[in-house]
Amino acid sequence: MGKLDGRVVIVTGAARGQGEQEARLFRAEGAEVVLADVLDEQGEALAREIGGRYVHLDVGEEEAWRAAVAVAKEAYGRVDGLVNNAGILRFNSLVDTPLDEFMQVVRVNQVGCFLGVKTVAPAMEDGGTIVNTASYTAVTGMAAVGTYAATKHAILGLTRVAALELADRRIRVNAMCPGAIDTAMSNPAQLDPTADAEETSRALDELYRKLVPLGRIGRPEEVARLALFLTCEDSSYITGQPFVIDGGWLAGVSVI
Ligand code: NAD
Repeated sequence: MGKLDGRVVIVTGAARGQGEQEARLFRAEGAEVVLADVLDEQGEALAREIGGRYVHLDVGEEEAWRAAVAVAKEAYGRVDGLVNNAGILRFNSLVDTPLDEFMQVVRVNQVGCFLGVKTVAPAMEDGGTIVNTASYTAVTGMAAVGTYAATKHAILGLTRVAALELADRRIRVNAMCPGAIDTAMSNPAQLDPTADAEETSRALDELYRKLVPLGRIGRPEEVARLALFLTCEDSSYITGQPFVIDGGWLAGVSVI
């Protein structure tokens, strides 16, 4: 028996990275999975491979959310879960950040999450789950990613309020706060066919060996296991909470 037997879950940003691993794990645990992304070729290929359904969804577009929910209902008859995973990162100091760039990140990370809750929750079965992907930078500062950190802090506020407002329907809403995870976001070499992504992964492990108590960068499969916990009955009495998954990074610093 799978932990998600009989459940239908929408995962955004599912074409690669953490969303891909969430889609794979949820499918392996018995869920019907609707994979949503803007990377159509990759998303469609993955959906075919795992036996899911791909839908083109730019999370910043309200109408596209309505269409994605309609696809899920038409294909599987119901929606029980949503993982708001899609996100983008831009590096800039706050004083150098053009307003357009700030708004672009807000549109995907923050508005995308809001529209996911707003559009999917009313269509969701009672007792459903929403998992919002925040970040380590939702609970502490990090220079050069101010826009991203602002949107990830906002996602925690959204998560808490959604948990309060949806509790009467037993819909649980939680957030994940990953530290550094080895996906294209932290390791862009994964997108460069001429680069040795394994080599850059080893270099990242070396970098995080000094920063993170567990001594390495995290893997997307590890975040997927947290998303599974928050989506299945194992977390039945948990709502409105941020879950940090960061190898101990937030615990503090060591002076020796
Ligand atoms: P990634 O870049 O590999 O994956 C992001 C996915 O989101 C991609 O498939 C991309 O196409 C999709 N996406 C981007 N804009 C979109 C849009 N407008 N509509 C729909 N899909 C869109 O990176 P990842 O690490 O897998 O990121 C997943 C989530 O985890 C993001 O929310 C990210 O902010 C968060 N996160 C990542 C890290 C990390 O170190 N990698 C750390 C903390 C949090």
